[in-house]
Amino acid sequence: MTRFLFSLILLASISLSAQQLKSPSEFLGYELGTQFTRHHEVVDYYEYLAESAPDRVQLTVYGKTNERRPLILAYVSSAENLANLETIRQEHLKDTEGAGNSSKAIVWLSYNVHGNESVSTEASMKTIYELLTKKSSYLENTVVIMDPCINPDGRDRYSNWYNQYKNTPYQVDPNSKEHHEGWWSGRSNHYMFDLNRDWAWLTQIESQQRLKMFNQWLPHVHVDFHEQGVNSPYYFAPAAEPYHEVITDFQRDFQVTLGRNHAKYFDANGWFYFTKEVFDLLYPSYGDTYPIYNGAIGMTYEQGGSGQAGLGIVTAIGDTLTLKDRIAHHFTTGLSTVEVSSQNAEKLNQEFRKFHQNKDFKYKSYVLKGEKDKLDALKSLLEKHNIEYGDLTSGSYKGHSYGSGSNGNLSINKNGMVVSTDQPKGTLVKVLFEPNAKLSDSLTYDITAWSLPYAYGLDAIASTSAITSQNTQETVPSSNIASGSYAYLTDWNSMDDARFLAALLKEGIRVRKADHPFTIEGRSFERGTLIITKGDNENKEDFILTLQSIATKFKKDITSTGTGFVDSGKDFGSSSIRMISKPKIAVLSGGPTSTLRFGEIWHFFEQQLHYPLTVIDDEYADRVDLYEYDVLVLPDGRYGNYFNEDELTELKGWVRKGGKIIAMGGSIDALDGEKGFGIQKKKLEEAENDENTPQPYKDWERERIKGAITGAIFKTKVDNSNPLAYGYGSDYFSLKLGSSAYAYLDNGNAVYLEQNTKPFSGFAGVEARKKISESLIFGIENHGRGQVIYMVDNPLFRGFWENGKLFFANAIFMVD
Ligand SMILES: [Zn+2]
Repeated sequence: MTRFLFSLILLASISLSAQQLKSPSEFLGYELGTQFTRHHEVVDYYEYLAESAPDRVQLTVYGKTNERRPLILAYVSSAENLANLETIRQEHLKDTEGAGNSSKAIVWLSYNVHGNESVSTEASMKTIYELLTKKSSYLENTVVIMDPCINPDGRDRYSNWYNQYKNTPYQVDPNSKEHHEGWWSGRSNHYMFDLNRDWAWLTQIESQQRLKMFNQWLPHVHVDFHEQGVNSPYYFAPAAEPYHEVITDFQRDFQVTLGRNHAKYFDANGWFYFTKEVFDLLYPSYGDTYPIYNGAIGMTYEQGGSGQAGLGIVTAIGDTLTLKDRIAHHFTTGLSTVEVSSQNAEKLNQEFRKFHQNKDFKYKSYVLKGEKDKLDALKSLLEKHNIEYGDLTSGSYKGHSYGSGSNGNLSINKNGMVVSTDQPKGTLVKVLFEPNAKLSDSLTYDITAWSLPYAYGLDAIASTSAITSQNTQETVPSSNIASGSYAYLTDWNSMDDARFLAALLKEGIRVRKADHPFTIEGRSFERGTLIITKGDNENKEDFILTLQSIATKFKKDITSTGTGFVDSGKDFGSSSIRMISKPKIAVLSGGPTSTLRFGEIWHFFEQQLHYPLTVIDDEYADRVDLYEYDVLVLPDGRYGNYFNEDELTELKGWVRKGGKIIAMGGSIDALDGEKGFGIQKKKLEEAENDENTPQPYKDWERERIKGAITGAIFKTKVDNSNPLAYGYGSDYFSLKLGSSAYAYLDNGNAVYLEQNTKPFSGFAGVEARKKISESLIFGIENHGRGQVIYMVDNPLFRGFWENGKLFFANAIFMVD
């Protein structure tokens, strides 16, 4: 009886406080739009709402960022829906098998994926408050899932910076410091990764944790809120061409339905906006396309402002754009999205079921084979996407061959797998695996090729028939580490091997490498094989135990040998079996470097290789003694003549004495020329224009792209006797991101393009193709005891080109 009475009182207090919910301004103590709210204050407000209206707001902490900020989701709906939330979710997911009977609309609103596009988190607070008060009728048939900040580390980097540098009152003059954020900007996350390029590759912990939640829901509608330049009017759906061919008519049409509703509100207020331009729907790793390929209506909304606008700024036409204006626009489109979704809940459900029934793609199955480590890396990605796969241990399969670009066969006798489109994630499978994405237009916002078999370095065919998997049993590699053996050997061909080596070096175990193939005790080993001898590690305490535990951790197959006497090749005692050093790494940041390209290197060392690096900023780089380091990495960027003549002379001296430069992308330009190193840039040859007719001005953009490569995949030649290419076969599929090209080196060309420059996947303009003919991809130039390693293409691009990463590991450990 007392319990009954208690719950009555509790209910009464809930409904009372729900009526008196504090608005964001009331809760925060300042009018929304007059300050940037820090992440913990945003979380406080959401927690307050969940406590005050628990029947209509549920909060989940779904993870933490690199800097330990909480990642949260708010489920907002009617009390009845929230009481049945789990049932609604399960009903909805049945629709992905075409079996459900769900009727609620599921709308997911994602804010602030780019941290310094700082308005949207503010707008989220106003939006949730309105949904709980004046617009609560939308929620009767709709569940709104709100992520107030996908990228809290980036957003706090921006808002803390702004709070430090702003004038009081804020200065609208665009020249004031508060409108110039500098190199460490808040757009990207802690590791300077762009989280809006990471939905498909899931290299970042924010994406990994969020996608687990996303896959539990697979919403009907997903909005990713952004900002663009200060002078741009608002952008909303429908998106620009090209659209990926898998996008359904309904997905196209509903973007128009939504856009028209937004336009109604914008027209009434006299606000400017545009649609159908700039933001296309192709590259699968965005917050609009990824949800689309999972059955949603995925959209990007763009407000003018970004990290430049602050609390207020004068625009090019002399108006003042304030944070309050920016909030009003994102607030309007957010609510309008929920409104239209609520009005069309039945249609959204029908079409979602239809999307998941329609899987009549040309290729039914993708068959892959390769090194176990590489297959495992791919499997781990597929599992994060809830994509099903099966193993194949034998058989011969026909189809489109990725290696040749035409029809062929793939024979499997072990280490094979199959991924089919006949599954709830079938559309995503097609988009990620198909050999060549069909382009309805070559003018796109991003790269045009990403096919996973190329990215993971696997042999593959795309088959028009459905192939069933074979049951296999996971074989655990035997780390046959017999104590007292003469040496322990292990192969070198994957990032797992590089991680294994990094761990051994950090533990103080001495490791040698084979620069020649050899045979011992009847087994053959390739270049790059790691040789760990008893003799080298006699003074290492617990040598065998440590080796055993590291081998187990990295699932390494270790061969123990009783002798160092080889059947062919060099004996282990030979002076040509050299010790791998434990290099001290310096990486340049700031100044001429690109934040994203720097971030990829930073993340590679700390989160992929687990090996220490020293970050040296451009601001004080000239005061650092380079001789304290073995390797200097120059990330891609805009260098121009970054090094003067004296500095180039100093660099050369350091290299001759054993230093190693890894020059990536645009940094190569700082090293070429008369006073520099040996590398030579290729110029675009005058295109022969047979017709010689003047081109109309309106076509200038299309003319320009003839000289462009927008992320395309090329088949390149590999000299795997070059230490930079240990562990690779005779060719390599490189993702080329631009048309910069360099002539072959005198020797040391590890990876290069020959004459044929037809891309296997993606777009390359005719003039660009001529320019990159017979050009260097990766190579080594020796000077004295040191080397310069050139990386024209970027094997660490967005952290997803798995098969390129070993080149980078080779540059660190194998090249000496
Ligand atoms: Zn953005």
